[in-house]
Amino acid sequence: MDHTTPAVPASQLDVNSLSQLEAALRRLDGGFADLPAFEAEGEDAAGLARVLAEVAERLRDNYPYFHPLYAGQMLKPPHPVARLAYALALWLNPNNHALDGGRASSRMEKEAVAALARLFGWETHLGHLCGGGTLANLEALWVAGQLRPGTTVLASAHAHYTHQRISAVLGLSFEAVACDARGRLDAGALERRLAQGGVGTVVATLGATATGAVDPLPRLLALRERYGFRLHADAAYGGYFTLADNLAPETRQAFDVLGQADSLVIDPHKHGLQPYGCGCVLFRDPSVGRFYKHDSPYTYFSSAELHLGEISLECSRPGAAAVGLWATQRLLPLEPGGVFAGRLARGRAAALALFARLRADPRFVTIFEPELDIVVWLPRAERATEASRRSRAIFAEAARRHLHLALAELPMELIGPYAPHMAANRETVTCLRSVLMKPEHAGWVERIHAILGEAASVGGSPDDWAASHV
Ligand SMILES: *Cc1c(COP(=O)(O)O)cnc(C)c1O
Repeated sequence: MDHTTPAVPASQLDVNSLSQLEAALRRLDGGFADLPAFEAEGEDAAGLARVLAEVAERLRDNYPYFHPLYAGQMLKPPHPVARLAYALALWLNPNNHALDGGRASSRMEKEAVAALARLFGWETHLGHLCGGGTLANLEALWVAGQLRPGTTVLASAHAHYTHQRISAVLGLSFEAVACDARGRLDAGALERRLAQGGVGTVVATLGATATGAVDPLPRLLALRERYGFRLHADAAYGGYFTLADNLAPETRQAFDVLGQADSLVIDPHKHGLQPYGCGCVLFRDPSVGRFYKHDSPYTYFSSAELHLGEISLECSRPGAAAVGLWATQRLLPLEPGGVFAGRLARGRAAALALFARLRADPRFVTIFEPELDIVVWLPRAERATEASRRSRAIFAEAARRHLHLALAELPMELIGPYAPHMAANRETVTCLRSVLMKPEHAGWVERIHAILGEAASVGGSPDDWAASHV
């Protein structure tokens, strides 16, 4: 062994790709070489270093989202190319509100958004990036409300809570529709409500946030034929799964008709490998752009080309978000059978593998098979209170072993049929939940299951419960 070479400390975070940023930054800089030289008012390097070191220390107080043993909430590390391209753009800090604020990044946004629209078979569309799924859904429901004034919005009881809140913000009436035993919007219940009249918009969720359940879109489209409502698809979480080659047949059928929705939301910052601050709303009919019309006296003078602020509710927006997304799609095109699709499918395969292990494990109770990459389960227990307490104990014990899970508070109606021997002495049950978003998860399922077993025997045994309640 050569003792003169200093050992390079192994890193957990991707540090290696950072050197590529400098080369790209110098190339960008070269584009402005003909400007007269100037001195920016800089900060002293020692001050920067001191504060950055402090920031690095502060940031250590986080779960390790990038690691395969982080298997909790919907948190996925951005791709290095997204991180670097985003950072590169920050040296200019373009604003995609108007072309004056970001010519190149606005064009990159239009290209990236068109690629997302094509994912659902839309050759024409109206759409743009925005802060996230909440804002994207708000714009979609706002347009729906303009087109169907005075009508009610329906979404499933397991739809994201944002729909109810957004409807209240927009002054639209909202009602939740019951779900079936697989957490999907119950088409029978929907039809009964539609028959009563007054419904203008139905929200279909493709990938419910808690369980990943996919609403039965083909049936909803058949009901649209009959009742003429507007159909908005919230695919903030699940949209990209249309590229996965390992969906169950019914789930596949829902994704195959997603392009028939009137509007659609997909979050590149969920499964599209982007940093936060990147949602996307798409409308099938570009003419809804008329609702956004406004007469800004000072914004849009630089060209007759579309300024994204003319079709967006937000004004200033980070051009860097568009640059990150464009770069990612350039490196990993949104193609069936491509690298991006393959990685998405591996996360789902990991979820199916974990589900199979948990189903065969007498210590746990599983609910329905995951439709995407989200697994929900609970400790086997005599009462809902006990299962809930043990879920929390297992969550804490697993974290001590570096396995980070999530908890989900789910209604007894949903869980009960899968745990018929458990007394329903509580309206909801605290369940364990794991979102297996990273392709690396596929290689860690055995380890994750082993840690769960240890955590269950330490923190979640029924005797332990009995002893603490005498
Ligand atoms: C995450 C999510 C949202 C909200 O999106 P944000 O990007 O967090 O604002 C809406 N709907 C669904 C189905 C989601 O999963």
